[in-house]
Amino acid sequence: MALTPSRLLSITVCLVLSAYAFVCYTTVQLVIFPSMGPELTTPLVLHLSAFSAIALLGIVSYAAAVMIDPGSVPPGWMPDAEENNDMAVQEVKSDGGARFCSKCQAYKPPRCHHCRICKACVLRMDHHCVWIANCVGQHNYHPFFLFVLYFLVGCAYALYLLINQLLQDIDSLEDTASEAQERDRRRLPHQSFEISWDSLYRIFTAILVLPLAIGLGVLFCWHVYLVLHNKTTIEYHEGVRARWLAKKKGQLYKHPYDLGIVRNLITIFGPNATSWFWPTLQSPGGDGLSFRTYLHLSTETDRSVGLDEEVRLETRTDDDDFISLGHKPVIH
Ligand SMILES: [Zn+2]
Ligand SMILES: [Zn+2]
Repeated sequence: MALTPSRLLSITVCLVLSAYAFVCYTTVQLVIFPSMGPELTTPLVLHLSAFSAIALLGIVSYAAAVMIDPGSVPPGWMPDAEENNDMAVQEVKSDGGARFCSKCQAYKPPRCHHCRICKACVLRMDHHCVWIANCVGQHNYHPFFLFVLYFLVGCAYALYLLINQLLQDIDSLEDTASEAQERDRRRLPHQSFEISWDSLYRIFTAILVLPLAIGLGVLFCWHVYLVLHNKTTIEYHEGVRARWLAKKKGQLYKHPYDLGIVRNLITIFGPNATSWFWPTLQSPGGDGLSFRTYLHLSTETDRSVGLDEEVRLETRTDDDDFISLGHKPVIH
């Protein structure tokens, strides 16, 4: 699998890594250690181990999503004429011809789209992500999903620890102030300043983490939805138009690559469930040139509801091709 480590040096990648490193450092140095005391207690070891593991998995997943090539069309690739049968989903231009990228001067496999920013056709393209300075496609979707998951868990964990510590700060500040007033008013300003400095650092980190956690949470829920339906972001938008066109014709649109939740998970993350949570350099979801569709799973029941009738649904893609997606919807 092709790797481009130089992407790690891009400005947005450095910015993301710096912000995340700052959040991790502040959480460990100013929250976990002070709240647990100087001794190596069991809660300290547990929090430190759990937070470090999540942070490390997040950074490794992020680096993999940045470096791994999302998938390019092999030179000379041609659509397989024999694939154009009952079991294959036919993605064609509106004139019925094979999808061809005029910019790359090459045929496009199913689910492949041209990225204007990368200036290349990307296999099973989801979207171009500025935060990883890379396209999200066939080969780096898994680490991209894990990066969102682990950054979300890391930020939520950090936020929980930060808020807990800030509540303790408020309590100790009130205690210190009342004690100092009773004993010696001259010591109050110095103690108050030291506590406030650390608290300000924690407040600043919490302000940074909160929108980050909300944004990652929304992004994670969105990709959970996409994974469960075996869709890409592009296909979701194409599906909205395809569904509208089907409705106009009195038909029901069905996303052709949706094989059911379990099969969708296996298709995207691989058959071994224990490896779903570890970023790997090897794409678990195949070569990205051909994909199973629900037509492969057709049963007698499927055919009885009208799968034999072919209806073409034209949708506009980001690179101005008209394609036929899900050309055999269930007819009711
Ligand atoms: Zn192209
Ligand atoms: Zn791109």
